[in-house]
Amino acid sequence: MNTHSEGTVSDGTATSAVNLLPELKKFWGYDSFRPLQADAIDCVLNRQDSVTVLPTGAGKSLCFQLPALRFSGVGVVVSPLISLMKDQVDGLNGAGIAAAALNSSMTDAEKLTVANQIKNGELSLLYVAPERLSSASTIAFLKENEVSFFAIDEAHCISSWGHDFRPDYRALGKLKDQFPGVAVHAFTATATPQVREDIAVQLNLIDCKTLVGSFDRANLVYRVSQRSNLLTQLRTVIDRYPKQSGIIYCISRKEVEGVSATLNGLGYRCRPYHAGLSAEMRIENQEAFIKEETDIIVATVAFGMGIDKSNVRYVIHAGAPKSLEAYQQESGRAGRDGLESECLMLYSASDFVMWRRMIDHSNPAAAALLDAMSCYCTRPQCRHKALVEYFGQTFDKHRCDACDVCNGELNTVDDALVICQKIISCVFRVDQRFGANHIADVLTGSKGQRVLKFKHDEVSTYNLLGDMPQKTVRNYVDQLVGQGFLATAAGEYPTLYITQQGRQVLRGEITPVLFQAPTPKQKSGPGTDDWEGVDRDLFDLLRAVRLEIANEKSVPTYTVFHDPTLRDLARQRPSTTVAMAGISGVGETKLASYGERFVAAITAYCNDKHVAVDQSPIERMKSSGSSVKSMAKEGALKKAYTLFEQGISIEQVAAEIDRAVSTTSGYLANFISDNGVTDPTPWVDADLIPPIHGAAEQVGSLEKLKPIKEIVGDSVSYEQLRTVIECLKVETR
Ligand code: ADP
Ligand code: MG
Repeated sequence: MNTHSEGTVSDGTATSAVNLLPELKKFWGYDSFRPLQADAIDCVLNRQDSVTVLPTGAGKSLCFQLPALRFSGVGVVVSPLISLMKDQVDGLNGAGIAAAALNSSMTDAEKLTVANQIKNGELSLLYVAPERLSSASTIAFLKENEVSFFAIDEAHCISSWGHDFRPDYRALGKLKDQFPGVAVHAFTATATPQVREDIAVQLNLIDCKTLVGSFDRANLVYRVSQRSNLLTQLRTVIDRYPKQSGIIYCISRKEVEGVSATLNGLGYRCRPYHAGLSAEMRIENQEAFIKEETDIIVATVAFGMGIDKSNVRYVIHAGAPKSLEAYQQESGRAGRDGLESECLMLYSASDFVMWRRMIDHSNPAAAALLDAMSCYCTRPQCRHKALVEYFGQTFDKHRCDACDVCNGELNTVDDALVICQKIISCVFRVDQRFGANHIADVLTGSKGQRVLKFKHDEVSTYNLLGDMPQKTVRNYVDQLVGQGFLATAAGEYPTLYITQQGRQVLRGEITPVLFQAPTPKQKSGPGTDDWEGVDRDLFDLLRAVRLEIANEKSVPTYTVFHDPTLRDLARQRPSTTVAMAGISGVGETKLASYGERFVAAITAYCNDKHVAVDQSPIERMKSSGSSVKSMAKEGALKKAYTLFEQGISIEQVAAEIDRAVSTTSGYLANFISDNGVTDPTPWVDADLIPPIHGAAEQVGSLEKLKPIKEIVGDSVSYEQLRTVIECLKVETR
């Protein structure tokens, strides 16, 4: 099955990424490229060696998968994990692209089939594990055939500077020699310049083009909080994403077991994952997560490398990891599909004490990494900015609107200067030879043994902050360390000393900002609400349809459709496969294989619940690229808006724009919401409004029309009901 017979270009120089837009739509169902994708694709088409650095979820795979369609040979993709390989191949096949893998888990017969496909020029992409390319027979076989390019995924594995070095990747350094004239393209999310340069060197790339994207993950909301009541803190986040996927990282296996058991006891669907479990158990739990048989994975850092799940809505750290590199990677597993997701870090001073004990003290870098982590936790700075700058990029936005600091969720302490001065003087009074806990003990007037033993109950700063809990003072001390006013001496015992900046605080020249600890108020979810217009019940139903299809095909759910596509389906509610084709993420093959099933589910649901089908994609158009179909719809919608402004009735507007009354009523609901309309009387008889309000109050929720309709009965139409409820929603938002 050769999917690219027509329009094949064996000489890539003739074309550029824009020429591939039709294929992007046909196979992936996407309308436009994401940042740097077109540049990376151009490198592949032009056979120019390249290193592309883009954060997790930015869409690196497409950069080599799409151009592969334009070559007559096979694009060879090196990927470190067999499980990831399988998912990618399943995903590609599901989209109608001829791809296969070669790895040790296959039988000889399976390998032979793949070899024949390559010989016959039938494969666009071949996934191989790195060790395959150190085998002489594989090299010889590939040389006999036409290799279009090599794409090295997770290329940082070749660098011993990286955190994930794999000796097997070393063999890839010979590719440029073994396959002269075949371009090699490296892809990684690892941000450090050192690793990036090392990749090009190790792979012996020639005249290499380096493309580096922004490391900011704009769709992630970052929050940091001191760990206090762990369970409550976890549930605050989990409950924001009912029935959706999330990961909770714990530092110890014991904590993993405890948290997992507790959450299960509370009725959450949750599984543990750590290196102490048997291999079968780990695989089973990971599969359950991927297949959405469980919502939450509670894990140690052992979990994640093989996870390509795109709809993880939150990643919570129940303890601070040992570096921001690790944090970026682990938290980065949230929101790969680009939808709003949340990363919460719950840290505690003891995490750092523990790491400090465990790190190699002969290596100053390890301590520096830990300090950077602690600084991230305790410094009152935009989290996006802190992360992006840590990785050597600038952050231009004044505020991100997607972190606890910028969203004003953290309360600051009023008399910070005085408190800070008291703390710093106390460090001075104990000769800068004690750690944070002891300082907090002295300041809060502890009668503990150590305090008495060193006669610290006699220093002038004893009990100066006696009106505060020790924990609070301890947290303030940590904040001062994080902000660089105090520093931790090198060595196993974290004794504190005063920095130059700290002295300025003593002299009253600088006023540090202190956060109240722990975080008292938290706004709702993420800044951008991409649930706008989505019928949640329908979304859940479509997830079930997706799961059914995925199980039938034994593939992960996201190879059927990603969440953004399901949300669009539950938002626009296409009643025909033609309408469904206009939705982002719906390619031709997927539409043909299971479009009907989704359409059937949507129409059945909408008929049953009296929800309008074929809604305008207005919300989508505001934010992202728009499809051809949505452009056509825009005309009708605009006209409808103009007429609604004049207070014209739903029936009249429906006739004017040649749409069904139910569709028009949907437009009106959008109009009301978009324009903040609170008065429904232009469209609904004033007499009908009080009974509708009463019924809504009785039901206690504005989310579903059906129960309200049951109370008001047939005297009110669905269109009238929806209009009044929409105005009520505006009023109460
Ligand atoms: P990475 O390898 O960089 O972590 P992936 O290749 O796994 O990212 O892609 C992440 C998600 O982005 C996938 O769901 C993919 O389908 C989606 N995606 C990629 N390119 C586009 C695009 N141009 N438009 C919309 N979605 C895209
Ligand atoms: Mg990837």
